Amino acid sequence: MLLERLSDLSKEDKPLSPAHIPDPVPGDDQLLLKVSTCGVCHTELDEIEGRTPPPVFPVIPGHQVVSSVAGSGSGVTGIREGERMGVAWIFSSCGDCEFCKSGNENLCSQFRATGRDAHGGYAEYMVVPASSAFPIPPAFSDAEAAPLLCAGAIGYRSLRLTGIVNGQHLGLTGFGASAHLVLKMVRYRFPDTPVYVFARSSKEQEFARELGAAWAGDTADDPGAKLDAVIDTTPVWKPVVAAMKVLKPGGRLVINAIRKEDADKEHLLKLDYPEHLWMEKEVKSVANVARLDVSEFLELAAVIPIRPETREYPLEEANKALLELKNRKIRGAKVLRIG
Ligand SMILES: [Zn+2]
Ligand SMILES: [Zn+2]
Repeated sequence: MLLERLSDLSKEDKPLSPAHIPDPVPGDDQLLLKVSTCGVCHTELDEIEGRTPPPVFPVIPGHQVVSSVAGSGSGVTGIREGERMGVAWIFSSCGDCEFCKSGNENLCSQFRATGRDAHGGYAEYMVVPASSAFPIPPAFSDAEAAPLLCAGAIGYRSLRLTGIVNGQHLGLTGFGASAHLVLKMVRYRFPDTPVYVFARSSKEQEFARELGAAWAGDTADDPGAKLDAVIDTTPVWKPVVAAMKVLKPGGRLVINAIRKEDADKEHLLKLDYPEHLWMEKEVKSVANVARLDVSEFLELAAVIPIRPETREYPLEEANKALLELKNRKIRGAKVLRIG
């Protein structure tokens, strides 16, 4: 399924078009993968609507790929045909800069994202550098593993960036796929940490309580406690200001969003220095994922275990899955079934 140009999804319902193109040929350091499943992510909506546009069209989207190895370049060793491999948002980076050398290849200026800067998994086959393919633990089915590769890996990085330790208080603003997974990770890794969930819909609040949140309420409600850290997964600004207010002195807000929408930007003018920022409060964003986030998260998810609720669509119905994601119609992570 090809993305050939940007579209406005409030007016158009078929942003991707089916096409037959030749199977890709792996380069020296690459694997040829036969795709089994590919998750459908909000970031695809950001690509389609131009908030993080692909540099070249057409491109095959998809960055939560579960596949089996169907071939490899001459420089690849130690990976056998038929092995099950996952591909995440990180496709490649330069390998040589200060960020790549310190395990922060997600910050590399030459970072290339799967399904945006290189063809991704809304296809029968794809190629990827062997260093960006991750073995999938046997605990997961192909459908269950797909959503873990993005929402899980980035949730894992967000949680790491909060710097919290067991017992400290954590807030989550927004309660989508990534936040669910963070809550499950926290329950396991930091069992004495109370989690406060800020979400607009009462259904989401209820779901958060079911999953073990200590408190759930609306974005600007008072949780009755000050928090050591908050992870924001919303596309808007109001929760950012609200979260800064409930942070303890020295607390940290981690914004896990590739782009923020402009619609409610005026909320930022309500930022009051003494109330929201003073006392050494910090704001940090999460950018992309590093390889270690993906591999460490997959291992952790298999141990906990985390089993995402999924809903499958055939590849030809990718447009339908994207629209349903946009309109928040159906609960559960959306996964394309390909091979
Ligand atoms: Zn994603
Ligand atoms: Zn680099």
